[in-house]
Amino acid sequence: MSKLMIIGCGGVASVAVHKCCQNSEVFEEIMIASRTVSKCDALKEKLAPTTKTKITTAQVDADNVEELTALIKSYNPDAVLNVALPYQDLTIMDACLAAGVHYIDTANYEAENTEDPQWRTAYEERCKRLGFTAYFDYSWQWAYKERFEKAGLTALLGTGFDPGVTSVFTAYALKHYFDEIHTIDILDCNGGDHGYPFATNFNPEINLREVSAPGSYWENGKWVEIPAMSIKREYNFEGVGEKDMYLLHHEEIEALAKNIPGVKRIRFFMTFGQSYLTHMKCLENVGMLSTTPVEFNGQKIVPIQFLKELLPDPASLGPRTVGKTNIGCIFTGVKDGKEKSIYIYNICDHQECYKEVESQAISYTTGVPAMIGSMLVVSGLWNKPGVFTTDEFDPDPYMEALNRWGLPWVVEENPVLVP
Ligand code: NDP
Repeated sequence: MSKLMIIGCGGVASVAVHKCCQNSEVFEEIMIASRTVSKCDALKEKLAPTTKTKITTAQVDADNVEELTALIKSYNPDAVLNVALPYQDLTIMDACLAAGVHYIDTANYEAENTEDPQWRTAYEERCKRLGFTAYFDYSWQWAYKERFEKAGLTALLGTGFDPGVTSVFTAYALKHYFDEIHTIDILDCNGGDHGYPFATNFNPEINLREVSAPGSYWENGKWVEIPAMSIKREYNFEGVGEKDMYLLHHEEIEALAKNIPGVKRIRFFMTFGQSYLTHMKCLENVGMLSTTPVEFNGQKIVPIQFLKELLPDPASLGPRTVGKTNIGCIFTGVKDGKEKSIYIYNICDHQECYKEVESQAISYTTGVPAMIGSMLVVSGLWNKPGVFTTDEFDPDPYMEALNRWGLPWVVEENPVLVP
């Protein structure tokens, strides 16, 4: 019995909204508020006849704290789910504090303008101090800890699949299978085929910035950074088959390194086909991935934003994507003095997702955990004042909810390890 405001109306938001509407017992009312209100209205029109959840819509610029605070106060929700872009994380957190409501998101803060001098000074200091150069990190949002504590509000960060479910898998492995976890390999495999030579499965700007950055992993208490795509492994994924995967920097490594006692190494791998990598390298080489505005015909344009306009909208990939994803974590460690290893993963079928919510599996595997995280916060099960990632709560209700809401998982003992 709660009221949720959902900010953003893209691929992930659409799945989160569908799932909230399937879960009317918890989400009695939702508001879809985004930059382009016509998208919110279209989604409302489609879902309203199928659900008991009362849906309202609103236009909002989530970069504008005052405007957003006024909207939150007038709607008076129990929590705000941010499924806009990571650029809006801080302004939405500010508005939640001002309005006195809980905050939930699926990706950590990233600056839209990486040339901003103030941001750059802080970024360069952080690169030196921590040793990784990705544009996104948790420091900005962790800095809100005291303010959320004092306000008695919960901020749940990163409740998508990765980050999100992967950190819940880690908390679950630690609770039920290990006394100490020593290594974590997070494997994100997308065996889907959309038939385009090149397209991204979620927001192209965020996606391309993430995968073109240098890779890094955590080992023996520090970060090791490597050139982008320079560590490659092969793995035979259940439900998908043999795939090439590459080591990337990924945000949950930062949280898990802080929160999992005794962990010695954490790596993140994502599968890519050769066509994707060749296209990305070419676009990067000609400057199309740049976030720095250039002057064109008397107008300032940001190359990566222009590229986004040319690429297929990720939300349109649903009907044409076939195949499966397999995302999970391989853990090694000790239990009762003995060494052991397990693999916890979920397999998700693109076409099954499309049949259910008219989205491909990448939006699905993010939108479902976004609904589950919101459900646990508004129902009080995952509720403590401060700023937390998903590994910092009891994993059991989340794991049960994954099975119930469309992302069943498997625990495999003694899996093939990644060299
Ligand atoms: P989309 O680009 O499809 O959707 C973003 C939505 O946010 C759009 O509706 C957009 O509006 C809206 N928006 C953007 N800026 C503003 C603003 N200033 N005010 C209000 N609304 C705004 O992105 P996705 O759905 O693919 O991704 C959503 C989030 O999910 C991202 O943060 C992404 O990083 C995260 N993600 C997390 C994953 C995980 O596993 N943890 C995996 C995949 C994604 P408009 O319609 O006008 O463009």
